[in-house]
Amino acid sequence: MTPRRELTEAEIITRFFAHPAPRRRDLLLGIGDDAAVTRLAAGYDLVTAVDAVFEGVHFPRGTPAQAVGHRCLAVNLSDLAAMGAEPLWATLALALPAADARWLGGFARGFGALADAWRVALIGGDTVRGPLGMSVTVHGRVRPGRFVQRCGARPGDGLYVTGNPGDAVAGRLLLDQPRRGSAVAALRRRFLYPEPRLREGRLLARVASAMLDVSDGLHDDAGKLLAASGVGADLDVGQLPLSTALRAVAGEERGRVLALTGGDDYELLFTVPARHERLLARLVRGWSCGVARLGTVSGRQGLRWRLDGRRFGFADRTYRHFAAGRR
Ligand code: ADP
Ligand code: MG
Repeated sequence: MTPRRELTEAEIITRFFAHPAPRRRDLLLGIGDDAAVTRLAAGYDLVTAVDAVFEGVHFPRGTPAQAVGHRCLAVNLSDLAAMGAEPLWATLALALPAADARWLGGFARGFGALADAWRVALIGGDTVRGPLGMSVTVHGRVRPGRFVQRCGARPGDGLYVTGNPGDAVAGRLLLDQPRRGSAVAALRRRFLYPEPRLREGRLLARVASAMLDVSDGLHDDAGKLLAASGVGADLDVGQLPLSTALRAVAGEERGRVLALTGGDDYELLFTVPARHERLLARLVRGWSCGVARLGTVSGRQGLRWRLDGRRFGFADRTYRHFAAGRR
């Protein structure tokens, strides 16, 4: 038997990535030429985000290919969600150690399913040999000026978070453990298949004074939003929306620390002026992910966590790529 020939670059592209993109009238020229051509409808601003995802840094070796495909797009769509944008198009720069057709099939399935779900067209990319990793660029649109920045929080605003922070990091820690059960499986899924809060982000753009997505951990990201806005906050650890699965697997105490420092949540953290809090309550009715109010923004700089009136201390183990204190 002759060993199977490795796929060429062109074969990889046609076999795994050049599927017909969702039919979009704003896509004039997709995969196959030197560049893609798109047309932004009149009356919109273009929103662009890029995030790179590498094996061994953002996901452990052995992560299922389908999850890698999903994740690398999801983390980018999450950035568009945090701006309040509607996603349109994506490009994918992919580095592979080898042209493994099975791996590529899983990866393309994960990427494609999420792209189709949000009608995002993959319009181009690049395929090279290298350590396993990918850089995805996404484009979205907002009505003129209707994007939400991090810097708009003001004293008196309520500070909120969607979903269940802490689940994803617990799921990541559980990946290489032999534990079983439905709670463990649910947590692993939250790490492997994060759901970008795109629908929520677009609605929140109507009421939020500031917003970002939680990728590095709630404590760290809340600190970024508050610092960018030049304000501070006293937040209540008791209001953290810990999931039943996280409580069951990690317990309340550890669950709280995971929720504060874990990262990989891709939930939305946002502030809402008091005059809009009733409208917010109406907007979030019926959301599957839930929304929790953690406290109120104050003019006093800094972020303080409290539990039952006392200061809540914890070791900040947030992952940082370059700063001291890398874990
Ligand atoms: P060039 O040498 O002109 O850059 P390539 O052979 O790299 O062309 O790419 C051919 C076409 O395939 C281009 O339209 C490019 O955008 C697209 N493409 C390459 N790799 C990918 C990928 N991983 N995902 C999506 N499109 C890709
Ligand atoms: Mg190229």
